[in-house]
Amino acid sequence: MKRKAQAQHPMLKAGITGGIGSGKTTVCKMFEKLGMPVYYADDQAKYLMQHEHFLIDQLKKNFGEDVYANGKLDRKLLAGKVFNDPARLALLNSLVHPAVFRDTERWMEEQKEKKVPYVLKEAALLVETGSYKALDKLIVVTAPLDTRVQRVSERDKTNEEEIMARVKNQLPEEEKVKLADFVITNTGSLEELEQQVLKIHEQMIEENSKLAV
Ligand code: ATP
Repeated sequence: MKRKAQAQHPMLKAGITGGIGSGKTTVCKMFEKLGMPVYYADDQAKYLMQHEHFLIDQLKKNFGEDVYANGKLDRKLLAGKVFNDPARLALLNSLVHPAVFRDTERWMEEQKEKKVPYVLKEAALLVETGSYKALDKLIVVTAPLDTRVQRVSERDKTNEEEIMARVKNQLPEEEKVKLADFVITNTGSLEELEQQVLKIHEQMIEENSKLAV
């Protein structure tokens, strides 16, 4: 009985990614306004590093007990320990990413109760980590680098150098676009952005209806 009910409400899993400042979060808020649940992987990674016991133990074992001071993660200290050290950064990612992956799976299961046609997972490094492979559809948000740098520097009050350091950790946009099912070009107004989101929303509902029996 339960199985039949689930088959009548299949739920697609979509990923949203894009370079720094491309507009991922802005786009996700628009999907949320349409009633679609969004998992914000980067925020959730921060939460898990503070709350998931297994991950906390792993981080302490590999980076030293001192990365937690009075039970609170010392982000600056941890960042310093991996800064300019690709092997240590890879080790950190190899601990955090599986924890986020497990948490995403748990979250996705929970969402099935809502009987929504699809859910979204937003992450800056969805392609780089390979986690897009566990999803049904990939949405890539794009904008020219100079626009992205300008938007982020206004949002975060940071300088171009800091932003470019983060850009260097990311695959070029064109590589992500090659894998995309949907590409959102965020070069216009927020209204234009919303129109693109609405179109994808309708297409996702259409895709979902093909699965329903
Ligand atoms: P990050 O990679 O840092 O997480 P992001 O891809 O999630 O960034 P957003 O935070 O959504 O990007 O957008 C970056 C900034 O640009 C925000 O301040 C947002 O309000 C602004 N922005 C996004 N799209 C537009 C647009 N079409 N017009 C004007 N401002 C925009």
